[in-house]
Amino acid sequence: MTPETRMQLIGVFALLLCAFHLVGANAGTSSCEMPLVLVDTDDQELQVRICKTVTSVLPMLEKCQLKLTNPVTISFSKQLGSPDNRCFGHYLRGKGRVVLLEPKAFEQAHKASESWTAIPAAEHFDAIVVHEFTHALVDQNALVELSCSADEEYIAYAMQVASLSEPTRSALLTSVGASIPTSTEELNPLILGFSPTAFAARSWLHFSNPENGCAFVGKIIRGEVTFWMYPE
Ligand SMILES: [Zn+2]
Repeated sequence: MTPETRMQLIGVFALLLCAFHLVGANAGTSSCEMPLVLVDTDDQELQVRICKTVTSVLPMLEKCQLKLTNPVTISFSKQLGSPDNRCFGHYLRGKGRVVLLEPKAFEQAHKASESWTAIPAAEHFDAIVVHEFTHALVDQNALVELSCSADEEYIAYAMQVASLSEPTRSALLTSVGASIPTSTEELNPLILGFSPTAFAARSWLHFSNPENGCAFVGKIIRGEVTFWMYPE
């Protein structure tokens, strides 16, 4: 195994750790006004907030051929990841289930995060809803198994950053000093593993170039492009 491959695997492993620290969801599932979206919480205000966020992002996702065709349940946990590897949310592939850090725990994780404090916690929370919901729709719409986590994360982060308000997005881009990626090699799994914030900002910058946008997302979900560094 080359050092590059080893580092790549470390990055991917760090992301996968999110999957193994899920705590049980709350009781009290209720559906949003739109069909196929369920929110598993007793907190009415939180339920309304999640439904509003999902409703507002659906048109952008549909434009990118990410259509909601199967149920997605959004639930909450007090803990995701480990103290060394905090997760704000997670999507359980094939299960149609998004798990988010509940708002109080989210705020603490946000404050403790070195990279996301440039943006307000509340807006960050809503953007994570968008990120994880995007994963759910990629799962429902991808025509092939995507080659690496960076392929999926590109789409999720592009939508996450696109959902931010203009001033918040500017603050994020400034905080990471991101410039427009000139090649897809600048969006590789290593950057994703070591600096998710930089990867997020670069994904959006790349996506927002009119030459890319939803057409590029389409290529990813059809398996025509990949960020995997050693495509066959
Ligand atoms: Zn993700």
